[in-house]
Amino acid sequence: MPIESVNPYTGRTERTFDAFSWAETERILAEAHTAFATWRTTDFDHRSKLMRRAAELLRERSDELARLMAVEMGKPLADGRAEANKCALCCDFYADRAAEFLADEFIETEAQRSFIAYEPLGAVLAVMPWNFPFWQVVRFAAPALMAGNVGLLKHASNVPQCALALEKIFHDAGFPPATFRTLLIGSDLVEKLIADDRVVAVTLTGSEPAGAAVAATAGHHIKKTVLELGGSDAFIVLADADLPLAAKTAAQARMINSGQSCIAAKRFIIEKPVIKEFIAQLKEHLQALRYGDPLAEGTDYGPLARPDLADELTEQVEDSVKQGAKTELEGGQPEPGSAQFAPVILSNVQPGQRAYTEEFFGPVALVLEAQDADDAIRLANDSRFGLGGSVWTRDVKRGEQLARQVQAGAVFVNSLVKSAPEVPFGGIKKSGYGRELSHLGIREFVNQKTIWIA
Ligand code: NDP
Repeated sequence: MPIESVNPYTGRTERTFDAFSWAETERILAEAHTAFATWRTTDFDHRSKLMRRAAELLRERSDELARLMAVEMGKPLADGRAEANKCALCCDFYADRAAEFLADEFIETEAQRSFIAYEPLGAVLAVMPWNFPFWQVVRFAAPALMAGNVGLLKHASNVPQCALALEKIFHDAGFPPATFRTLLIGSDLVEKLIADDRVVAVTLTGSEPAGAAVAATAGHHIKKTVLELGGSDAFIVLADADLPLAAKTAAQARMINSGQSCIAAKRFIIEKPVIKEFIAQLKEHLQALRYGDPLAEGTDYGPLARPDLADELTEQVEDSVKQGAKTELEGGQPEPGSAQFAPVILSNVQPGQRAYTEEFFGPVALVLEAQDADDAIRLANDSRFGLGGSVWTRDVKRGEQLARQVQAGAVFVNSLVKSAPEVPFGGIKKSGYGRELSHLGIREFVNQKTIWIA
């Protein structure tokens, strides 16, 4: 099957690539394996120099990268530039901090000296999604390369040009070519790759079925995995919150990347006294957003990344309405098969509806009514997902107490949920396991080796 780059705004096929055969894939894997033997012996200063150069290139090429994101998955240019710049921040962060994060850690024991040494493992396979085609990869690649591992990228099949552009950045920055390679392959070759002894671990960001399939294969071959899967983040608004700020941020948090973000706010859990006003303000903010060509400056949101994603979202909305949800803002697709999807607000979201249990990966705000703060926490936690969440209240102390009660990998008080290089990122429950970013992220794919000197 060829790998196609299709512009979701125009429906035009931009480029077509022949998928790599297994023989070609296996050759690249062999080169990566060989490169690891040398790369692991390089020092942090050397790796940092190259990583800082990669950061510079990401900044220099941000216009070009934003254009690729716009044509391959519909991200507006301004958001694409911001993504490229955020990737640069991540590269700089690990260039600056990797040596400190992986320094020997001394532990008091009966030994003369005992410590943990953090050593690289080898070739790590990254199976990545299309929604943040650079950021999702860089937050794996920057720590992995800095730790002395080598990376193999199997990117989502709809973003091959982004995948190749990122490979080129690392190569142009001076990384030996075999330390970071893009494999233009379909998901059919992933199992075979994981089975190969030269692949030592796998990280996947994407859907639950993809995560389960990859983790099952990795488990069979006793290989470590990190999974960053879906989410249905709660956005809890208490009656004492700064409502205009909460409603404005709610619109932003729902519309990140046209709603296609694992940490987009999806379930708006609002205390009863303010729910009407919250919906009214949220509606106003969503209606003010301009849909358009992602390549046009001034477009607030573009199409979904593929028409099938919009079709699926329409089904979820229609089923939920049949099951009792109320439409507060009517948007959706202009016609089946279109990737365009205008924002929708559903209220009266109740158990038994798809809106209550499923992740809505697009611009649909699901509003749930809470009787009080305890009820809000109960609703927030009545979910199979546990990625992020936010709590809105003027009482910051109470906000912190409530944040501790939300079952999620990250909870923000009076802020939208975001990822940043300094803080860990990842989920619990069906949102996955393991952490990316921060000092925890770089320690996922290393041998945490005990050395004991009697
Ligand atoms: P997928 O999870 O199918 O794709 C993510 C990556 O996994 C892609 O590289 C894909 O390859 C690969 N993949 C898929 N199935 C397998 C498999 N069985 N074995 C190995 N690799 C596999 O996402 P979709 O594009 O289909 O999006 C569907 C849903 O996934 C969304 O609606 C959303 O719920 C969720 N999602 C979550 C993301 C997140 O950030 N957590 C990001 C994107 C999607 P290929 O493209 O070749 O199929």
